[in-house]
Amino acid sequence: MIKQAEYIWLDGRQPTQRLRSKTRIVNGLSSSPAVEDFPEWSFDGSSTYQSPGGNSDLLLRPVSYVDDPVRGAGNYLVMCEVMNEDGSPHESNHRARLRETLEKGAADVDPWFGFEQEYVLFDGNRPLGWPENGYPPPQGPFYCGVGPNQVYGREIVEQHTQACINAGIMIYGINAEVMPAQWEFQVGYRSINEESADPLTIGDHLWMARWLLFRIGEDYGVEAVLHSKPIQGDWNGSGQHTNFSTKPMRDAKTGMATIEKYIQLLEKKHEAHIAEYGEGLDQRLTGLHETCAIHEFKSGVADRGASIRIPRQVANEGHGYIEDRRPGANANPYRIANRILKTVCELD
Ligand code: ADP
Ligand code: MN
Ligand code: MN
Ligand code: MN
Ligand code: MN
Repeated sequence: MIKQAEYIWLDGRQPTQRLRSKTRIVNGLSSSPAVEDFPEWSFDGSSTYQSPGGNSDLLLRPVSYVDDPVRGAGNYLVMCEVMNEDGSPHESNHRARLRETLEKGAADVDPWFGFEQEYVLFDGNRPLGWPENGYPPPQGPFYCGVGPNQVYGREIVEQHTQACINAGIMIYGINAEVMPAQWEFQVGYRSINEESADPLTIGDHLWMARWLLFRIGEDYGVEAVLHSKPIQGDWNGSGQHTNFSTKPMRDAKTGMATIEKYIQLLEKKHEAHIAEYGEGLDQRLTGLHETCAIHEFKSGVADRGASIRIPRQVANEGHGYIEDRRPGANANPYRIANRILKTVCELD
């Protein structure tokens, strides 16, 4: 059967990479193809900030796929790495660096990641549902709110959530956020049938979930904005809290000692983490609005003003996961995971 495969990759825009995609017509794929069944494909790197015009051909290498919930059964979303013509990873290919870190030893601790993606729906140049002049009432009633003056854009959010489920993306939950028209969805740390997944797959799923959000937004003329601080003033910025655990953290015998050791390692590398955690972080990490100031490092149990939060339940049970609250909404999950793993596994 003749079907469509949407090849998705990250461009070379600085400092924030954006999604690109193009459609390959595929014929005769089985109902559960191997990723190798999708052919490699070239593209024009001079139009994506990835190569000079004179020598512009780059390669898309399919690395994972999910079902395409927009086009329907038999069509696929195919995540690709960008390769140079000699087959080496392109410099914009942070997924390849995460893979190297996993191969260098980080995979041995069986890391699990869960990302909380915050975003704001925009209608033109203002958040969806905001008055044409002035502002909505101050923050307070909107987080996890319900009702026509509490949340804006539910229809889009519902459609996106169902699309992620239909795709087979490891979506974990969604909620309305603190600023009106701000929302969150979580991806990871394992699939609904309880299989855990490696950090590469979780990163792929987050990028494909973002792609779906932008794609569905096309049908409404509404843009999901991942800016760290889309509206200046007394309005929450958008983050990408990153929850993670390793085997020794999840073990009742070694859990708390490992968590304490990791937090010390994370503190030492604070600035290196900030450098990988996205654009415009200084506007969001102010010490207000449930953040810790950008050049400070704090950890604490149930502390939403900390850089690293130990969830209350984890402290009570003595093992589990921790939350890195620093990454911004626009950060690249491959880079976040790579930085965390290099730090806690002491690989640099
Ligand atoms: P918050 O209270 O910070 O808003 P959420 O419920 O939005 O928390 O998100 C919690 C996140 O923690 C989810 O993304 C989930 O996948 C992740 N998570 C839960 N347990 C673990 C674990 N053991 N290891 C890694 N991530 C985990
Ligand atoms: Mn062409
Ligand atoms: Mn959350
Ligand atoms: Mn949130
Ligand atoms: Mn959180």
